[in-house]
Amino acid sequence: MLKELEEHQKYALLKLIDEVQDYAIILLDVDGNIQNWNSGAQRIKGYSAEEIIGKNFRSFYTKTDLKNGKPEGLINIAKTKGIAHDEGWRVRKDGTRFWGSITITAIHGKDNEIIGFGKLTRDLSLKKRAEQARQRHVLELELKNQELEQFAFIASHDLQEPLRSLISFTDILESEYKGKIDEDFDQYIAFISQSSRRMKELVSGLLDYSRIGKQSEQTNVDCNELLKAVMEDMTAVINENKAEVNVETLPTICGYPMELRQLFQNLVSNALKFTKEGEPPKLNIYAERKAEEWIFSVEDNGIGIDKDHREKIFIIFKRLHNRDDYPGTGIGLAHCRKIVELHGGKIWVEPKPGGGSIFKFSLPIS
Ligand code: ADP
Repeated sequence: MLKELEEHQKYALLKLIDEVQDYAIILLDVDGNIQNWNSGAQRIKGYSAEEIIGKNFRSFYTKTDLKNGKPEGLINIAKTKGIAHDEGWRVRKDGTRFWGSITITAIHGKDNEIIGFGKLTRDLSLKKRAEQARQRHVLELELKNQELEQFAFIASHDLQEPLRSLISFTDILESEYKGKIDEDFDQYIAFISQSSRRMKELVSGLLDYSRIGKQSEQTNVDCNELLKAVMEDMTAVINENKAEVNVETLPTICGYPMELRQLFQNLVSNALKFTKEGEPPKLNIYAERKAEEWIFSVEDNGIGIDKDHREKIFIIFKRLHNRDDYPGTGIGLAHCRKIVELHGGKIWVEPKPGGGSIFKFSLPIS
């Protein structure tokens, strides 16, 4: 009775293997000759059982793999370690290729001698092709990005020279003819002078933007030292505005020192600039560790930023205010975003309860 049950179970198992569609499940003898063939194997590799049983499993390998002894290598691993795994291109009956994920397991006899191998193959071609398409896409994007950066660099670099001439000839015209022709002339020349100077600021900002990360090397940066230097540079503005700046102990991180200094400088100078009338600026700068990254915060009690603008402000040249109210070029936060992304982090702004903004950025702990 027990024997009958065992036979029954064996039959059910063989039937199950035979009907599995998604996996090729085959048995090989010690020399790698194919002993059985299930419907999954037929679906994936294209041979019928009659065509392939008795042939060697080497038939599924590419010419290069055969030349490099790959099938023999996998069998040897399965012999010595009991199991061998591989992923790679394999060949179907019609010569087309599929990306297979393969496991070969040694089967042992009563005396522990190897009597054959079980081979399980899964066709991962769709996954592989999707991955290849994604990689191609990433590469294309990287190239396009490089082209754009190069364009921004060349354009801003080459625009500087004609702009310098424009400014110096405008200065000459102004000094020679101001007050000598008429009021309109004086006004027009003043407009040309202002606009060309502003254009110079924008162009040099764009040039700096395209240079981010190109000229320095990553090192360990003590952010306490960095902030100390930034504060020293800003002593005049801090005193002038009667600002209160509180900097907590900050970590040492691995990054580009010049760029990180610029990042803090831009955030601090914005916090000192976008202030409420009659309210001295109050800044809090601190960092918290969250899992595998540091989250830095620059908190102010300034005018705050509307919900609708909290993402747009990081776009180059985007400003929310008139230059007469708050001076600037609209490049600072675009720089900040590029610097943070260069370090593999993210930057965003949150409203500060009670008024003001908290600029936050994450930097991964490498
Ligand atoms: P800029 O300071 O030259 O205008 P930024 O790129 O640094 O350029 O900032 C873009 C805009 O984001 C600013 O014009 C301002 O409207 C807003 N902004 C930046 N920082 C702050 C802040 N701390 N508080 C309120 N608004 C801010």
